[in-house]
Amino acid sequence: MRRWMAAGNWKMNTLTGEARSLASQIAAGTRGITSGEIVLAPPFTALAAVREAIAGSPVLLGAQNMYHESKGAFTGEIAPPMLQDAGVTHVILGHSERRKYFCETDDAINQKVLTSIEVGLTPILCVGETEEQRETAITEHVIAIQIRKGLKGLSPGNLEKVIIAYEPVWAIGTGKNATPDQAEEVHSFIRHLIVSTFGKSGEMTRILYGGSVTADNIGSLAEKNNIDGALVGGAALKAENFNSILHTLSEKRQ
Ligand code: PEP
Repeated sequence: MRRWMAAGNWKMNTLTGEARSLASQIAAGTRGITSGEIVLAPPFTALAAVREAIAGSPVLLGAQNMYHESKGAFTGEIAPPMLQDAGVTHVILGHSERRKYFCETDDAINQKVLTSIEVGLTPILCVGETEEQRETAITEHVIAIQIRKGLKGLSPGNLEKVIIAYEPVWAIGTGKNATPDQAEEVHSFIRHLIVSTFGKSGEMTRILYGGSVTADNIGSLAEKNNIDGALVGGAALKAENFNSILHTLSEKRQ
């Protein structure tokens, strides 16, 4: 059985004081939740504050990106051991904003995925089509390329360690979420793709949905077979909203 998961992507928001307070409220709100996996991914500058705030709670620490090298002359980048030193266990890779604004390619993302597995960080690999790609009916083609290239070289035994987040670009931060049926159609496509590529271990890989998830729409999304949780942006910046998402997931999933 796949454990549900929710990750909050705070993006470039929160100064340390705000981050500490938000994380404390979220951690306090997890009382009574005994299943699932909860991750908060604040900006790098707030990792230490959030680490302190979530200590003793089930909440885990995530990062929004990393470089694939372990150290060296790479100005402005952050290395996997630095993240681990800061208490990070999960890392979001290939977010559409990284692909769009920072020109991240599938090959670069693949290097990061392989490195994260090698060092013991759990990658959350983001994939998703643009509105134009959906309108021209090439969604599955686009997703297949992102998955195949993003997971290239991964051994089947390591597939369970990867989390995939399906995030249609047109749904991110727009308030226009994919319907549960639209999301499930792509999740199920991803499931078949990874099972046919890697074998049965693909059955255990968690696939999260991301794109304008709210406390109101998570319930119907979580009813779908292949939607194992959510990657949440805007709604993760308010403890009340994020906690409500967590409680709904814990009621609807294992
Ligand atoms: C995201 O940033 O990954 C995201 C899904 O954002 P939002 O929930 O705000 O659409």
